[in-house]
Amino acid sequence: MKRSIDGVFEGARQHWVGDGFHVSNFFPSATDTEKRMSPFFLLDYHRPEAYSPTTKRRGVGTHPHRGFETVTVAFQGAVAHHDSAGNGGVIRPGEVQWMTAGAGILHNEYHEAEWAKKGGVMQMMQLWVNLPRAHKRAAPAYQALTRADIAEKALPGGKGTVRVVSGAFEDAKGPASSFSPVHMLDLRLEPGATVRLPTPAGFNTALLVLAGSVKANGSGEVPEGKCVLFKNDGDEVVVESPGRSSVMFLSGAPIEEPLVHYGPFLMNSIDEINEAVEDFNAGRFGRLDD
Ligand code: MN
Repeated sequence: MKRSIDGVFEGARQHWVGDGFHVSNFFPSATDTEKRMSPFFLLDYHRPEAYSPTTKRRGVGTHPHRGFETVTVAFQGAVAHHDSAGNGGVIRPGEVQWMTAGAGILHNEYHEAEWAKKGGVMQMMQLWVNLPRAHKRAAPAYQALTRADIAEKALPGGKGTVRVVSGAFEDAKGPASSFSPVHMLDLRLEPGATVRLPTPAGFNTALLVLAGSVKANGSGEVPEGKCVLFKNDGDEVVVESPGRSSVMFLSGAPIEEPLVHYGPFLMNSIDEINEAVEDFNAGRFGRLDD
């Protein structure tokens, strides 16, 4: 049964993350509660935007996270990352970085230096995926998912592809390992495509249009930069693409636990937030030079 639509919304007014990422926040700011899209806590989307060539380092310097995972997806441009667990890399178009902050990590995120020298269009998104209480203190980890890693399923009749980052679509399974069930699908659709996405009724579900426009479960045309939030009253989403389009589909099992957010920390209680602040101030998140 098709889910009904809870709302179609734009993100909040764009803001700068450091001096490199001009993003619009979709959730939690555009949803009624911080848990409406649980396990997804945050979605920041960087619309396609051109940066002029520079040798200056643009981005966000070393900062901490605890209690969740950051998932960064590059559509255009290149993002360089380093963290205090000793991991680092460059996220290029079509690639995904799935970082478990867990017990605590320091990291920094910059435009990749060679890309920045030439300049170009940046388009990316970052999700914060909450961790269940039992895994809040998981060891920091890092999954660099390349284009070859991400399962790709062709739609019949050359109508496009579904790239499975996490979870499953038909017989394709995503490579990302997560601590609670998460379906994350990157759809590239051709004119006339119709794709049926089954998803358990209890999962919080939304899609973000990245290019072109789509209709979903009988909506009007939803253009690039808008998000469709679905009610949990059905078990499928049907996406129709009148022209070429690109869509990120997100669906996950809610984490039914207390949630306290403070800056870069997502914990279950205020005491745990205070502990995170103390641990960070005492240097217990490790060490990372900018
Ligand atoms: Mn960060």
